[in-house]
Amino acid sequence: MNKVVKFGGSSLASAEQFKKVGNIITSDDARRYVVPSAPGKRFSEDTKVTDMLYACYDLAERGKDFRRELKAIKGRYMEIIKGLKLKLTFEDEFKTIAENFKAKAGKDYAASRGEFLNGKIMAAYLGYEFIDAAEVIFFDKDGTFLMEKTNKAMAKRLEKVEKAVIPGFYGSYSDGRVKTFSRGGSDITGSIVARAVKADVYENWTDVSGFLVADPRIIDSPVGIETITYKELRELSYMGATVLHEDAIFPVRKEGIPINIKNTNAPDDEGTWIVESTAKKSKYTITGIAGKKGFCAINVDKDMMNSEIGFGRKVLQVFEDNDISFEHMPSGIDTLTVFVHQDEFMAKEQKVVAGLHRLVNPDVIDISSDLALIAVVGRGMKATRGTAGRIFAALAHANVNVRMIDQGSSELNIIIGVSNDEFEAAIKAIYDIFVVAQI
Ligand code: ASP
Repeated sequence: MNKVVKFGGSSLASAEQFKKVGNIITSDDARRYVVPSAPGKRFSEDTKVTDMLYACYDLAERGKDFRRELKAIKGRYMEIIKGLKLKLTFEDEFKTIAENFKAKAGKDYAASRGEFLNGKIMAAYLGYEFIDAAEVIFFDKDGTFLMEKTNKAMAKRLEKVEKAVIPGFYGSYSDGRVKTFSRGGSDITGSIVARAVKADVYENWTDVSGFLVADPRIIDSPVGIETITYKELRELSYMGATVLHEDAIFPVRKEGIPINIKNTNAPDDEGTWIVESTAKKSKYTITGIAGKKGFCAINVDKDMMNSEIGFGRKVLQVFEDNDISFEHMPSGIDTLTVFVHQDEFMAKEQKVVAGLHRLVNPDVIDISSDLALIAVVGRGMKATRGTAGRIFAALAHANVNVRMIDQGSSELNIIIGVSNDEFEAAIKAIYDIFVVAQI
């Protein structure tokens, strides 16, 4: 067995949390490769070290005195080091960081020191080898992650290393400058390492026991998801799930390695398994519900649209020309609706309308705003009769007006558009009919 374990910031925010992590790692010999985040919040009003680093570097970049801020960051690490009774001092490390800040080494370099230093502590604490991620994770000059080059280098570097700590969140350009992933990117590093060593499982340790069927800010104590496929997760994550960085599934997916989301504060909980495919059915037909407010629908009507070749392409061309991405595009025989993010669309609204007139000469253009999209996702829907019927009966019962329906041909999800102010009621109604009624 060979496991890669990634620990999030809240799992490594203090010496106490580090000790829990240490116990988790040493309790299973297969946990050989460790990817730490930077120290996160110790309590809810606390500041993550990554944010402290960004703020500190901002001062440096503006030529201001940043000594006090850097000292506070060092204080966070020294508190952990002392609590773990380690011999590290970080004198040289912080001297180098201060010099590099003065030399304006870049925002990414600054942020990456959060995981770099936490990785050093972790390696010393566990007695594992420390491997700087800048030596094994690569980006091209435009900042695009080089997946295959990285995989080769990482696999080679780890080939003969029995146990190692590889800090999360960053890598380097070919000239050696540090580049980070987007926020939360240590999840991606964990996935890269898991693929490179062909791990049996990628354990992603955080402060919750996996994914929940619905957003706990809307549903009171929703049930957890036991198993979810990569594809289902994509459908849910793009609507705003926050437990795992949405790009973290791509490297492991290449090797069919499952991800297990686990809770550092409740290590015996099974958590959520994210897998390529499974015969396991969800208890509730649906796997999860997610949604987002703030969409606009641009409805384009034109008689005989169905026989006009290239109509859809031209409509989308207008959005592309205005640099607007679209979310969904349900259509009727003489009508086509494009859903876009309201905040992206508003400033360009009239340009889009004029562009549509120029390119497709429609009969009517009608714009609706303040819409929410809800994705009801479940691999079980394909084989179950009446899922859509149950959703819409529940929504009607809850007095929610359905403005749009879109079911992908994969039958993995049903997308429902409602107005923003009926969003919460709609999610509750769907949760109740599938989950509460089932318990
Ligand atoms: N420390 C980084 C952040 O706060 C990356 C991570 O935690 O994954 O976004």
